[in-house]
Amino acid sequence: MSVVGIVPAGGSGERLGVDRPKAFVVLAGRPLLDWSVEVLKSICDRVVVVVPAGREAPPDRVAGGASRSASVRAGLAAAPEASVAVVHDAARPLLTRDLVERCLVALEEQGADGVIAAAPVTDTIKQADAEGRVLQTLDRSTLWAVQTPQVFRAEALRGALDVDEAALARATDDAGLVEAAGGTVVVVESPRENLKVTTSLDLRLAEALLEVRTPRGV
Ligand code: C5P
Repeated sequence: MSVVGIVPAGGSGERLGVDRPKAFVVLAGRPLLDWSVEVLKSICDRVVVVVPAGREAPPDRVAGGASRSASVRAGLAAAPEASVAVVHDAARPLLTRDLVERCLVALEEQGADGVIAAAPVTDTIKQADAEGRVLQTLDRSTLWAVQTPQVFRAEALRGALDVDEAALARATDDAGLVEAAGGTVVVVESPRENLKVTTSLDLRLAEALLEVRTPRGV
């Protein structure tokens, strides 16, 4: 069995308003990307990082595609030996070994095609129309806010990603593509701390949490 980490880091990070791709912003003393890559390297046989074109360094840093899922497909194509793929967004630097390990154990024990980290929804979620008129209030006891890591049997992920660019662009996570292909996906509860850096507020929060975890200079 070969467990390969695939880290999509090919986005521009425009919403962050910084001078470089988000994954390369320095956070608590090191590039945002490095925090999760270090955790993955301690567990996976190999880690492939998918970077913006021009920053590639094969075999383990390959160029991304036009959408997040296209980038994941490029990363997986660079790891034909993978039997298990651990997909984790560079934008989530607070990844822990414990969370990755729990996903891998669940993949083995549950016999699913994919296991995804997710947090129970704590806000009430309503569906509204384009004018803001509420259509319905959803039962939040069954709702999960989905994160990464998302761990897959590599064959199931390869098959799910074998769709056209438009379908890849519509996908907001890889598990959705596996579900659409008829695969089974299971959620594993993740800590809320595993936040995604999208805005400058997220960046400040993540930095504060990382500095507590690993004091500067240690
Ligand atoms: O933009 P967003 O934060 O949703 O992107 C999630 C992850 O996907 C980020 O780590 C980003 O670098 C990556 N990504 C990518 N290729 C793209 C777009 C996003 O690897 N074309």
